[in-house]
Amino acid sequence: MYRMILCEKPSVAQTVAYSLGANERVTDGKVSYYEGNGLIVTNAVGHIIGIGMPEDYGWEKWNLSDLPLMPQFRLFPLQGYSEQLGLLKKLLFRADVSEVINACDAGREGEAIFRYIYDFFGCNKPVKRLWISSLTDESIRNGMNNLRDGTEMENLFAAAFTRAKADWIHGMSLSRLYSIVNSDSHKVGRVKTPVLHIIAERDKLVAEFVSKPFFKVMLPNGAECETVCDTKEQAEALAAECAGKTVTVTSADTKRKNEERPLLHSLTSLQQEANDEYGMTAAQTLKAAQSLYEQKLITYPRTDSNYLTDDMKPLVGSIVKCLSVYDAERAQTLEAQGLNLDARVFNNSKVSDHHAIIPTNIIGRLGQTELTDDEQKVAKLVIERFFGVLDQPYLYDETKYVFDTGGIVFRLTVKTPVQPGWRKYMEQQATPDIHYSAGDTFPADDLTVKEGATKPPKHFTESSLLAVMENFDRLIEDKELKGFVKERGLGTPATRATIIEELISAGYIERSKKLLLATDYGKAFAASLPENVKSAELTAHWEQMLSDIEHGEAKPDDLLREIGSTVSEIVQAERQRTDRTPVTRKVVVGKCPRCGKPVSQNRKGFACAGGRENCGFFIYGQDKRIGRSYTSAEIRELLSTGKVILKNCTSSKGKNYSAVFVLEDTGQYVNLRLVEFVNDKKQRTAG
Ligand SMILES: [Zn+2]
Repeated sequence: MYRMILCEKPSVAQTVAYSLGANERVTDGKVSYYEGNGLIVTNAVGHIIGIGMPEDYGWEKWNLSDLPLMPQFRLFPLQGYSEQLGLLKKLLFRADVSEVINACDAGREGEAIFRYIYDFFGCNKPVKRLWISSLTDESIRNGMNNLRDGTEMENLFAAAFTRAKADWIHGMSLSRLYSIVNSDSHKVGRVKTPVLHIIAERDKLVAEFVSKPFFKVMLPNGAECETVCDTKEQAEALAAECAGKTVTVTSADTKRKNEERPLLHSLTSLQQEANDEYGMTAAQTLKAAQSLYEQKLITYPRTDSNYLTDDMKPLVGSIVKCLSVYDAERAQTLEAQGLNLDARVFNNSKVSDHHAIIPTNIIGRLGQTELTDDEQKVAKLVIERFFGVLDQPYLYDETKYVFDTGGIVFRLTVKTPVQPGWRKYMEQQATPDIHYSAGDTFPADDLTVKEGATKPPKHFTESSLLAVMENFDRLIEDKELKGFVKERGLGTPATRATIIEELISAGYIERSKKLLLATDYGKAFAASLPENVKSAELTAHWEQMLSDIEHGEAKPDDLLREIGSTVSEIVQAERQRTDRTPVTRKVVVGKCPRCGKPVSQNRKGFACAGGRENCGFFIYGQDKRIGRSYTSAEIRELLSTGKVILKNCTSSKGKNYSAVFVLEDTGQYVNLRLVEFVNDKKQRTAG
């Protein structure tokens, strides 16, 4: 008899097969599997069975009256996998296969990938679960000797399946709703839309911020005056008041400080550091980490833990040994001083599904493997963090000096390293050579005035957005929920990268170097939505119910019913709304002078929403007389005032000019008529 092992991907099946001695590759038409040692090893290709699209349930047409969409969910094969599915069916039902082992990634998605296939074919053979955190031979063999019973995973699968259904009902229904009411395609999601709202709100704060200048008087040693001035004149007067007087050191307090090592990496912290250090996106980091995992070099990346379990202590030592290939000096230094194996590294209570991301004990092969640029960067971050946490803390002396000059007080803080510890390998800051004792005096010479300005809040980067998604309790006012989501975050670590990418591809946000900014379209859409579609509170509450389901403390149907009725309320409210300005990607530039309907920009120019037949108002975008196209801002000005000054025009003879144009409608054609040239210089002096 055989035991059949189902992995998540072909590459993992190969690794597992070779580790367990299933060495014979059996070809079946276009597909193949591994056999040997009493095992059959095969694979899915990620998700190959899904819960379908609205069309699969008969909702071909988009009607408000169909909403909310709440089907009796069924499973559907995804297109393009018929051979692989045919093979899996054949193997599952082979008479000599007595047991099925789920070896998909040890998490919620892996559970769903397996169960969808198993249930779709109506298999009922006993199921065991291989639950491992790394793909090394040792880990796979250990896992096979400690298989879990499939029934232990019932609640995890219930949570995964419920999450998929809940997000489907919510996302499909509301995407259709907002596409219909806005006459343009829109995407709404339980997590995605609150994230859009968070970004749009931040952008608004930045835009509304008014920066204020301030001025500080400084001593040559870098000490800053306690009094902050609003004007340069005040600061200069203050400096003049001090000049020539005696500075007395009134206090010099030194305290020994301890800066702890950073924690081991979870997926989120790894994505943040890769974004801060290399500008990598969350999606790029996850992809590189997943690939390193499949190459057995690091442990399972989709983890939310920053800790290891106590039983891993001996393993940590062996990994450090292996890392001497990577950085011999550092590995030896660590071993010589003794690995710091305290509660900052090991904490059983803070590991649920998977431990933190660390190198495996075959990381020594790193140099022999061809890695992509991203993979090298991610491997480096994982290794450096691993070294860091096993090192000593950074100790330094912090001295706070207070200076007095005739009643005017200056302050200065100086840090002096005592034990570099884990910081030794980071960028070092120069330590100023400053030593005073209380009572010392010196003349107040060479005072300077430093100008600064209050800074606006910062736009989000992927790193800071991930931080908010992980700790979004800060944005939640409900106390009970707040305590809960502190541990949970918005979405799950493994899905956050996808959420960012989906918002970008929908056109709601965009990348500008490292920043993530809401587009005008995204801002308008977020602003048009009611609170219960975009607030983090509701999704946090659902996140709580999903966690309860995972722990067997809530019923899936309760959550689905609640989401259905919330969606239903949203649909009702939107149907009754009369004050709507449709949010579309079409840029509206003003009202049509003929019929009053909106005029918006399209590929050729600016057209009235009344259409060619009924109204026909249209301005061609290109104008040879000005050597370029009209901008939407110019046409907006023209439609609101009847005239516009066009600058930076180029005549057919190549001359630059500016001129006033007025709107001229012959009833048939709409033109811009040039009425007067404008002298740019005169304009400036007049203005
Ligand atoms: Zn019109």
